[in-house]
Amino acid sequence: MTSSFSNLSLAEPLARAVAEMGYETMTPIQEQAIPVVLQGKDVMGAAQTGTGKTAAFALPLLQRMMKHENASTSPARHPVRALVLLPTRELAVQVAEQVELYAKYTNLRSTVVFGGMDMKPQTAELKKGVEVLVATPGRLLDHIEAKNTVLNQVEYVVLDEADRMLDIGFLPDLQRILSYLPKQRITLLFSATFSPEIKRLASSYLQDPVTIEVARSNATASTVEQHFYAVNADDKRRALHQILKQRGLKQAFVFVNSKLGCARLARSLEREGLKTTALHGDKSQDERLKALESFKKGEVDLLVCTDVAARGLDIKDVPAVFNFDVPFNAEDYVHRIGRTGRAGASGLAVSFAASSDQRLVADIEKLIKTKIEIEPMEFEEDQPRKDQGRINDGRRMYRDSGDQAVRDAEDAPQGRAERPERRERREAPPQRHAVSRDPFFDKPYESTLAAETQPAWEASAKGAAPRSSVSANIKPKKKVAALFKTAAL
Ligand code: AMP
Repeated sequence: MTSSFSNLSLAEPLARAVAEMGYETMTPIQEQAIPVVLQGKDVMGAAQTGTGKTAAFALPLLQRMMKHENASTSPARHPVRALVLLPTRELAVQVAEQVELYAKYTNLRSTVVFGGMDMKPQTAELKKGVEVLVATPGRLLDHIEAKNTVLNQVEYVVLDEADRMLDIGFLPDLQRILSYLPKQRITLLFSATFSPEIKRLASSYLQDPVTIEVARSNATASTVEQHFYAVNADDKRRALHQILKQRGLKQAFVFVNSKLGCARLARSLEREGLKTTALHGDKSQDERLKALESFKKGEVDLLVCTDVAARGLDIKDVPAVFNFDVPFNAEDYVHRIGRTGRAGASGLAVSFAASSDQRLVADIEKLIKTKIEIEPMEFEEDQPRKDQGRINDGRRMYRDSGDQAVRDAEDAPQGRAERPERRERREAPPQRHAVSRDPFFDKPYESTLAAETQPAWEASAKGAAPRSSVSANIKPKKKVAALFKTAAL
């Protein structure tokens, strides 16, 4: 059962903002968490990005802070009262954007600080005074050390994506930050899973938390149509072109396993006439935000990205996700395809599996508890083969010798998530089939939608079973590759 926001008796400015955003019914996490936070209890929530988690903590915190709302221009009248910590700058920006929207009709101020960017503009915002501070841990410590913000009036702390913060190695930073905060406070912790480390963190910093769990891990959304095609490395781009064309797809995410592979593929696709942007760990913060913006505005057709760079991106309505490389870690598969089929929309997830990916595919099958049928890729006659060296418009085809992506695994992030340029280093090439030792890849996946408890907005799509056959609008003409026997899996 879902309930309406009107039952919450939110302050008028908050209710107005929610109505303006078009929210009608609460999502399951909102239904469960909002009343508990309004009562002032600590929360330990298992919920992932895409479940409506941000509003689940932001709305009740803003509601509780309304008693402090004032129109004074004095910074002293706007001390930090709520601190929201997130592992990456993209997540921090997204959460801050949402908080700003919810608070837009109030006098409560918010800002966001994250690394990889000049501290000065952030400092200027902090000095004006803000009630809600969204931050990544490393940069927040920099500001604390520089005395740009004082946290002695913090009443609320949100540790969002806590498992990922621990994966990245933020525990010491978190401990330091929490030591600066008043003991009397409300603490909310959200995590994809409750691992022993998360439970330890909770027992140290939360008081009698109410546990809320809304999503089953490792489930893929029923609204996503999933296909696995047997395609060898040299034919992958051709397969991508063909499916984009056949499906009439305007935009898609294309996932690859390595930074190098990401940049190369983006360049090749661009040369082949597709507006493409690469999103990987070596891109500056500015470039990443710009890439996202252009994609959101529809100026870019394809966003070629690595798992690290795409983590937590809240882009809705991506019609398709391509796994150009099968991810090294099965959990990343669920995470990747969570970019499509969000919020009730139907989506398409296509994976290109080379013969050497068999074990990785079997891992995914085990994780999502669904039999994966690997379909032969059937190329149209009029599409020139890779070895012909040309595509339809006469430009040269991309010539990649073998499965580059397998050779160049995405560099492992070490240390502070918001400073990938410092922490990334080149790793020894992983063995084929070997699961990556990259801590990011080892982290629990964070699906956006779960099979059992779908967000309210998905109600109409409930029961829709994932399709596994080729769509009717694909008219295969010639079988080229059949690298797998389905029965073998
Ligand atoms: P989140 O999990 O907080 O990242 O939210 C995912 C997306 O769902 C965001 O774009 C929100 O604006 C949207 N959203 C959050 N709550 C609701 C709701 N009750 N109804 C519809 N959309 C929502």
